Amino acid sequence: MSSGALNERLVGHLKTLHLPAIRETFEEEAMRATQEALSYEQYLFELTDQEVEMRRTNRIARFLRESRLPLEKGLDTFDLKRLPRKLSAQVRVLLEGSFLDRKENVLAFGNPGSGKTHLLCAIARELVENGRRVLFTPCALLVQELLIAKRDLKLARALKKLGRYDALLIDDIGYVQQSREEMEVLFSLLADRYERTSVMLTSNLPFSKWETIFKDPMTTAAAIDRLVHHSVILELNLPSYRLEQSEKQRTAEVKDEAAEEAGEPNPPSTTERSEKRGPQRRQVQRAKAPEGQGPTPSKG
Ligand code: ADP
Ligand code: MG
Repeated sequence: MSSGALNERLVGHLKTLHLPAIRETFEEEAMRATQEALSYEQYLFELTDQEVEMRRTNRIARFLRESRLPLEKGLDTFDLKRLPRKLSAQVRVLLEGSFLDRKENVLAFGNPGSGKTHLLCAIARELVENGRRVLFTPCALLVQELLIAKRDLKLARALKKLGRYDALLIDDIGYVQQSREEMEVLFSLLADRYERTSVMLTSNLPFSKWETIFKDPMTTAAAIDRLVHHSVILELNLPSYRLEQSEKQRTAEVKDEAAEEAGEPNPPSTTERSEKRGPQRRQVQRAKAPEGQGPTPSKG
């Protein structure tokens, strides 16, 4: 067979076998192999290595799309220095992802604006980039989807589908008052995931107020019990990030005005200066969060 005909047939086989990366690079790699006197095995390894790497990249891109994670809420835009030391230590461990292997849950509590959603999304994003599958969903939307599935007698199938993910990130549980029917599907989901796959959730409500979600004390206790059994609890007893930012902004503006009145020759605006310093440095460095502030989740 001439080398042209051989190449043509080879490309055909690589198409049939769905090996696009190898198809793309085999000629170039063959030249390199000749120049560097690589063994057959080394050449084959180089080719398959590229195919494996391409598949990994594509898989992660697919997982990221299907995760429905808000992509602007990543670790790159999250100021970890704002967290008390214990909390950032917990976050570092969670980023390793081994809690998923142990089917542990991650429960983030704290007042509105303290950064629960952003923090869990940022962790989830890192996990996805390490090859894990996560699905982000606002609790209200999840409940609606489960109700539709139940109405169509497809609840079991819907739960099974959710079971494909290493973790389900349920945002804002208890934020919207739920009817009994809504509570029931949510409970079914939590019971279904118990000890099988991880749940990550955020809530403004401490456990002591969860009866407003699950309606009766028995169901509430059962739900909490399942969630807490193997879990990491993150307490974000921090002031609202947004409030803190707008207060900082206001203070900067007042300073600017005062400087102007004092007749400083065209001082560079404080706000401009802080803008230049970038988001990382603009945040207030907080000391340890005061104990006992904000909702402290307690069992029962
Ligand atoms: P929560 O879910 O607790 O109500 P969010 O995570 O929605 O709070 O945070 C509120 C806003 O503040 C979001 O825009 C978020 O990106 C921002 N934010 C909160 N904490 C931080 C932080 N530590 N670093 C950067 N941005 C933050
Ligand atoms: Mg939130």
